[in-house]
Parts: sequence; C-alpha cells; structure tokens
Amino acid sequence: MLVSAKEMLNKAVSGKYAVGQFNINNLEWTKAILLTAQEMKSPVILGVSEGAGKYMGGYKTVVGMVNGMLEELNITVPVALHLDHGSFDGAKACIAAGFSSVMFDGSHYPIDENIAKTKELIEICNEKGLSLEAEVGSIGGEEDGVIGTGECADPDECKMIADLGVTMLAAGIGNIHGKYPDNWEGLSFETLAAIKEKVGELPLVLHGGTGIPEDMIKKAISLGVAKINVNTECQWAFQAATRKYIEEGKDLEGKGFDPRKLLAPGFEAIKATVKEKMELFGSVNKA
Ligand SMILES: [Zn+2]
Repeated sequence: MLVSAKEMLNKAVSGKYAVGQFNINNLEWTKAILLTAQEMKSPVILGVSEGAGKYMGGYKTVVGMVNGMLEELNITVPVALHLDHGSFDGAKACIAAGFSSVMFDGSHYPIDENIAKTKELIEICNEKGLSLEAEVGSIGGEEDGVIGTGECADPDECKMIADLGVTMLAAGIGNIHGKYPDNWEGLSFETLAAIKEKVGELPLVLHGGTGIPEDMIKKAISLGVAKINVNTECQWAFQAATRKYIEEGKDLEGKGFDPRKLLAPGFEAIKATVKEKMELFGSVNKA
C-alpha cells in the first residue's frame, strides 16, 4: 500500500540520512526502482512529473501500475507515489487519482500567491493523510520545459511556507536540474544552513541530485536534507546500457529483438544506479 512521505522523511531527519526520489517513466523504471528498494530494505519515493504522467497514459494508469506492482511483487518497504513539480491543478488531479504525495511548485508565483495556493492544497492533503512538498526559490535547469535560474531561496520566505504546515520543503541552494555546467559554483551551504536554522526539523528536499559530488551530498544531508531527487542519472544509465546492447548487435542475434531482452540491460542499469544512490544517501536498511 502506498504511504505518505511524512513518516519516512521525519525518520530520515532524525536518523541523518536521505530518502531518494527516483522519477519513473514507464513500467521498466517503476519495477527496477521498486525491486531495488525492496532488496535494499530502503524506503523510496517514486517521482512522476506531469509530462511523465501524461506519457504513461494518465495519473490513474500510473496509480494502477504502481499499486499492482506493490501487491504482486510483494513490495513491503514504505513507498510514496509523488507528483514532481506539480501545478495547482495537476496536484488536485493526482490527489484524486490516488497519489500518496504531491509537490506543488508555486515558486514562479509571487510569494503571497504561492502561500495561498500551498495553503489550499495542504488542507486537502491533511484531510486525506497525504504529504505535500512546496518549493521556494526556483531551481535552475530545465524540468519539463520549465527553466529556472538556479537562485538561492530566501530563508524568511522558506519559514513562511514551512509554517503553513508543509511536509517537506524544496529550496533552491544553487542546485540545478539536468547536467551541471563546468563552471557551476557548487551548493550554497551557507543558504542551506540559514534555511535549516529557520525551519528546524522540517525535512528539506534537494532537487537536481544528478552530478552533485558525493561529499556535497553528504554535507547537505548533515545539514537537514532528507529527500534527494534523482532523475537524469537513471536516464543516462538506461540510455548507455541500451546503446551498448544495440551497438554490440545483440538485438540482431536470436530473439534479441524481444523487448523483454532489448530493455533488460537498461533495466539492470537503473537498478544499479538506484542501489548506488541508496547507499550514498544512507537509506539502506531503514525501511
Ligand atoms: Zn526538481
């Protein structure tokens, strides 16, 4: 059964580790992540962007697939199904479809409007026992066509949103989505520490987990980051393994064209990436 992300993230804050959010795109992604979480005895958050939800057929299709796998693959670790960077309407649609957690990304609204919309969604989530992630200070890079500039969030604005009763807060600390440029200045631990000071035990979320050096990840966790989003890295792993399979001509041998064979190396590559991240984040054996 899907669970809210609240309990797993509060535990992560007190245990000084982070739970990975791994974005899903299809059945192979979902199965690879769920099986790895079970093997690692790790809690996990499945992230679904609005674009990926549409791609998979719609939010109800996603909920059906994930719930089916939880039951039939005997997944017993805590799993949250979470809308990633949701719009206000998208969040409502996911709640209605059976997601256990949503992110409302109101970072592009003026702070007053972000607060009003976040507040309305918190009421709905509280009523249904779901978790809600809010965002302050847009995160750089491109996420489904939304381009941010990689700013650092204002700690006072973080406090205003935190006080509304959100479950977790994504705050820009110089992190970006997708590939980090060569001249990236790294995470702003000064900003992170200032936010932590204001919001106390509230779990903080680090977006753009792909390509951040391991020592920075560990330091961020020590400063209160309890959820780290990984998306691009699984895509690269899948792509590289699939490319290798085809370049080696394996799709031309025997029944190598069978999608169950063609997609197997990519599936295994996602599993390896997720395992590596769970070890780095410290969530292994925390289920
Ligand atoms: Zn993000």
